[in-house]
Amino acid sequence: VTFEDLGCLPSLCEACRLVKYITPTEIQREAIPVALEGKDIIGLAQTGSGKTAAFALPILQALWEKPQGLFACVMAPTRELAYQISETFESLGSTIGVRCAVIVGGMDMMSQAIALSKKPHIIVCTPGRLADHLENTKGFNLRQLKYLVMDEADRLLDMDFGPKIDQILKVIPKERHTYLFSATMTTKVQKLQRASLNNPVKVEV
Ligand code: AMP
Repeated sequence: VTFEDLGCLPSLCEACRLVKYITPTEIQREAIPVALEGKDIIGLAQTGSGKTAAFALPILQALWEKPQGLFACVMAPTRELAYQISETFESLGSTIGVRCAVIVGGMDMMSQAIALSKKPHIIVCTPGRLADHLENTKGFNLRQLKYLVMDEADRLLDMDFGPKIDQILKVIPKERHTYLFSATMTTKVQKLQRASLNNPVKVEV
Protein backbone atom coordinates (compact mmCIF):
# COMPACT_ATOMS: atom_id res chain seq x y z
CA VAL A 1 0.00 0.00 0.00
CA THR A 2 1.23 3.52 -0.85
CA PHE A 3 0.11 7.02 0.18
CA GLU A 4 -1.37 7.34 -3.33
CA ASP A 5 -3.48 4.22 -2.67
CA LEU A 6 -4.84 5.85 0.50
CA GLY A 7 -6.09 8.79 -1.56
CA CYS A 8 -3.38 11.36 -0.81
CA LEU A 9 -2.79 14.13 -3.36
CA PRO A 10 0.33 13.93 -5.56
CA SER A 11 1.95 16.96 -3.90
CA LEU A 12 1.54 15.39 -0.45
CA CYS A 13 2.83 12.02 -1.69
CA GLU A 14 5.84 13.94 -2.99
CA ALA A 15 6.32 15.54 0.46
CA CYS A 16 6.18 12.06 2.02
CA ARG A 17 8.89 10.88 -0.35
CA LEU A 18 11.03 13.90 0.58
CA VAL A 19 10.89 12.95 4.29
CA LYS A 20 11.41 9.29 3.42
CA TYR A 21 7.96 8.06 4.33
CA ILE A 22 7.71 5.31 1.73
CA THR A 23 5.19 2.90 3.22
CA PRO A 24 2.27 4.16 5.35
CA THR A 25 2.23 2.83 8.91
CA GLU A 26 -0.75 0.86 10.19
CA ILE A 27 -2.44 3.84 11.85
CA GLN A 28 -1.92 5.84 8.64
CA ARG A 29 -3.45 3.05 6.53
CA GLU A 30 -6.48 2.93 8.80
CA ALA A 31 -7.04 6.59 9.57
CA ILE A 32 -6.20 8.46 6.35
CA PRO A 33 -9.00 7.01 4.15
CA VAL A 34 -11.55 7.54 6.94
CA ALA A 35 -10.39 11.13 7.45
CA LEU A 36 -10.47 11.85 3.71
CA GLU A 37 -14.13 10.77 3.74
CA GLY A 38 -14.73 13.61 6.16
CA LYS A 39 -15.43 11.51 9.23
CA ASP A 40 -14.46 12.20 12.83
CA ILE A 41 -11.90 9.81 14.30
CA ILE A 42 -11.13 8.37 17.69
CA GLY A 43 -7.67 6.87 17.35
CA LEU A 44 -6.08 4.54 19.85
CA ALA A 45 -2.38 4.70 19.08
CA GLN A 46 0.93 5.20 20.83
CA THR A 47 3.69 7.68 20.09
CA GLY A 48 5.93 6.12 17.48
CA SER A 49 3.00 4.69 15.50
CA GLY A 50 3.07 7.50 12.94
CA LYS A 51 -0.14 9.05 14.28
CA THR A 52 1.03 12.62 13.61
CA ALA A 53 1.12 12.12 9.84
CA ALA A 54 -2.15 10.15 10.11
CA PHE A 55 -3.94 13.35 11.08
CA ALA A 56 -1.62 15.89 9.41
CA LEU A 57 -1.93 14.52 5.85
CA PRO A 58 -5.78 14.64 5.67
CA ILE A 59 -5.78 18.15 7.18
CA LEU A 60 -3.13 19.34 4.69
CA GLN A 61 -5.12 17.80 1.85
CA ALA A 62 -8.30 19.62 2.90
CA LEU A 63 -6.31 22.84 3.28
CA TRP A 64 -4.89 22.47 -0.22
CA GLU A 65 -8.35 21.83 -1.65
CA LYS A 66 -10.01 24.79 0.08
CA PRO A 67 -7.67 27.12 1.91
CA GLN A 68 -9.68 29.43 4.13
CA GLY A 69 -9.23 31.04 7.51
CA LEU A 70 -7.34 29.68 10.43
CA PHE A 71 -7.85 26.11 9.33
CA ALA A 72 -6.84 23.68 12.07
CA CYS A 73 -5.96 23.63 15.74
CA VAL A 74 -3.99 20.79 17.30
CA MET A 75 -3.87 20.50 21.09
CA ALA A 76 -0.99 18.63 22.72
CA PRO A 77 -0.10 18.03 26.38
CA THR A 78 3.47 19.36 26.28
CA ARG A 79 5.54 22.03 24.54
CA GLU A 80 7.96 19.44 23.18
CA LEU A 81 5.17 17.47 21.55
CA ALA A 82 3.64 20.69 20.14
CA TYR A 83 6.94 21.59 18.45
CA GLN A 84 7.30 18.07 17.05
CA ILE A 85 3.79 18.16 15.61
CA SER A 86 4.42 21.55 14.06
CA GLU A 87 7.61 20.27 12.44
CA THR A 88 5.69 17.37 10.93
CA PHE A 89 3.06 19.75 9.50
CA GLU A 90 5.79 21.97 8.08
CA SER A 91 7.72 19.16 6.45
CA LEU A 92 4.65 17.35 5.06
CA GLY A 93 3.15 20.71 4.04
CA SER A 94 6.33 22.05 2.44
CA THR A 95 5.04 21.38 -1.07
CA ILE A 96 1.81 23.32 -0.44
CA GLY A 97 3.28 26.25 1.54
CA VAL A 98 1.62 25.67 4.90
CA ARG A 99 2.08 28.21 7.71
CA CYS A 100 2.08 26.99 11.33
CA ALA A 101 2.24 28.73 14.69
CA VAL A 102 3.19 27.05 17.96
CA ILE A 103 1.33 28.55 20.92
CA VAL A 104 2.62 27.09 24.18
CA GLY A 105 3.15 28.22 27.75
CA GLY A 106 6.44 29.68 28.95
CA MET A 107 6.95 31.74 25.79
CA ASP A 108 6.33 35.44 25.26
CA MET A 109 2.60 36.28 24.76
CA MET A 110 3.35 39.30 22.58
CA SER A 111 5.45 37.48 20.00
CA GLN A 112 2.80 34.74 19.91
CA ALA A 113 0.11 37.39 19.34
CA ILE A 114 2.16 38.69 16.41
CA ALA A 115 2.49 35.14 15.02
CA LEU A 116 -1.30 34.71 15.32
CA SER A 117 -1.93 38.02 13.53
CA LYS A 118 0.00 36.65 10.53
CA LYS A 119 -2.88 34.24 9.90
CA PRO A 120 -1.28 30.81 10.20
CA HIS A 121 -3.16 27.89 8.63
CA ILE A 122 -2.39 25.60 11.56
CA ILE A 123 -2.03 26.33 15.27
CA VAL A 124 -0.34 23.72 17.43
CA CYS A 125 -0.85 24.55 21.09
CA THR A 126 -1.05 23.58 24.69
CA PRO A 127 -4.65 24.30 25.78
CA GLY A 128 -3.85 26.70 28.63
CA ARG A 129 -1.94 29.15 26.50
CA LEU A 130 -4.43 28.98 23.64
CA ALA A 131 -7.28 29.78 26.06
CA ASP A 132 -5.18 32.69 27.32
CA HIS A 133 -4.94 34.14 23.79
CA LEU A 134 -8.63 33.61 23.15
CA GLU A 135 -9.32 35.76 26.22
CA ASN A 136 -6.63 38.38 25.87
CA THR A 137 -5.42 38.76 22.29
CA LYS A 138 -7.53 41.30 20.42
CA GLY A 139 -8.74 40.21 16.99
CA PHE A 140 -7.88 36.55 17.56
CA ASN A 141 -10.62 33.95 17.37
CA LEU A 142 -11.22 30.45 16.04
CA ARG A 143 -14.55 31.12 14.30
CA GLN A 144 -13.27 29.86 10.93
CA LEU A 145 -11.79 26.65 12.31
CA LYS A 146 -12.40 23.53 10.19
CA TYR A 147 -10.37 20.90 12.06
CA LEU A 148 -9.67 20.22 15.72
CA VAL A 149 -7.17 17.59 16.88
CA MET A 150 -6.69 16.50 20.47
CA ASP A 151 -3.44 14.54 20.57
CA GLU A 152 -2.51 12.31 23.52
CA ALA A 153 -5.92 13.04 25.04
CA ASP A 154 -5.28 10.82 28.06
CA ARG A 155 -2.24 12.92 28.96
CA LEU A 156 -4.07 16.18 28.22
CA LEU A 157 -6.70 15.17 30.79
CA ASP A 158 -4.19 13.81 33.31
CA MET A 159 -2.56 17.23 33.24
CA ASP A 160 -5.93 18.80 34.11
CA PHE A 161 -6.34 20.60 30.80
CA GLY A 162 -10.01 19.48 30.78
CA PRO A 163 -11.50 22.87 31.80
CA LYS A 164 -9.34 24.71 29.25
CA ILE A 165 -10.36 22.27 26.52
CA ASP A 166 -14.04 22.80 27.44
CA GLN A 167 -13.49 26.55 27.23
CA ILE A 168 -11.99 26.19 23.72
CA LEU A 169 -14.75 23.81 22.56
CA LYS A 170 -17.29 26.55 23.38
CA VAL A 171 -15.80 29.08 20.96
CA ILE A 172 -15.08 26.94 17.89
CA PRO A 173 -17.63 26.01 15.21
CA LYS A 174 -19.89 23.03 15.94
CA GLU A 175 -19.59 22.14 12.30
CA ARG A 176 -16.01 20.94 12.02
CA HIS A 177 -13.96 17.78 11.81
CA THR A 178 -12.52 16.42 15.05
CA TYR A 179 -9.80 13.84 15.65
CA LEU A 180 -9.02 12.55 19.11
CA PHE A 181 -5.93 10.41 19.63
CA SER A 182 -5.09 8.65 22.86
CA ALA A 183 -2.82 5.84 23.99
CA THR A 184 -5.44 4.62 26.47
CA MET A 185 -9.21 4.78 26.64
CA THR A 186 -10.08 6.09 30.10
CA THR A 187 -13.43 7.24 31.47
CA LYS A 188 -12.26 10.84 31.15
CA VAL A 189 -11.28 10.31 27.51
CA GLN A 190 -14.70 8.77 26.79
CA LYS A 191 -16.38 11.79 28.33
CA LEU A 192 -14.28 14.15 26.20
CA GLN A 193 -15.06 12.04 23.16
CA ARG A 194 -18.81 12.40 23.77
CA ALA A 195 -18.45 16.15 24.25
CA SER A 196 -16.42 16.79 21.13
CA LEU A 197 -16.79 14.16 18.40
CA ASN A 198 -19.66 13.52 16.04
CA ASN A 199 -20.27 9.87 15.04
CA PRO A 200 -16.57 9.05 15.18
CA VAL A 201 -14.98 6.06 13.52
CA LYS A 202 -12.68 4.18 15.88
CA VAL A 203 -9.25 3.26 14.57
CA GLU A 204 -7.00 1.14 16.71
CA VAL A 205 -3.50 -0.23 16.22
P1 AMP B 1 4.72 9.70 15.52
O1 AMP B 1 4.08 8.47 16.09
O2 AMP B 1 3.77 10.51 14.71
O3 AMP B 1 5.40 10.53 16.58
O4 AMP B 1 5.86 9.23 14.49
C1 AMP B 1 6.96 8.45 14.92
C2 AMP B 1 8.13 8.52 13.95
O5 AMP B 1 7.86 7.80 12.75
C3 AMP B 1 8.50 9.93 13.52
O6 AMP B 1 9.89 10.07 13.58
C4 AMP B 1 8.04 9.99 12.07
O7 AMP B 1 8.83 10.87 11.31
C5 AMP B 1 8.16 8.56 11.61
N1 AMP B 1 7.18 8.17 10.56
C6 AMP B 1 5.86 8.46 10.54
N2 AMP B 1 5.26 7.90 9.48
C7 AMP B 1 6.22 7.24 8.79
C8 AMP B 1 6.22 6.45 7.58
N3 AMP B 1 5.11 6.22 6.89
N4 AMP B 1 7.40 5.90 7.19
C9 AMP B 1 8.53 6.12 7.91
N5 AMP B 1 8.60 6.85 9.04
C10 AMP B 1 7.46 7.39 9.48
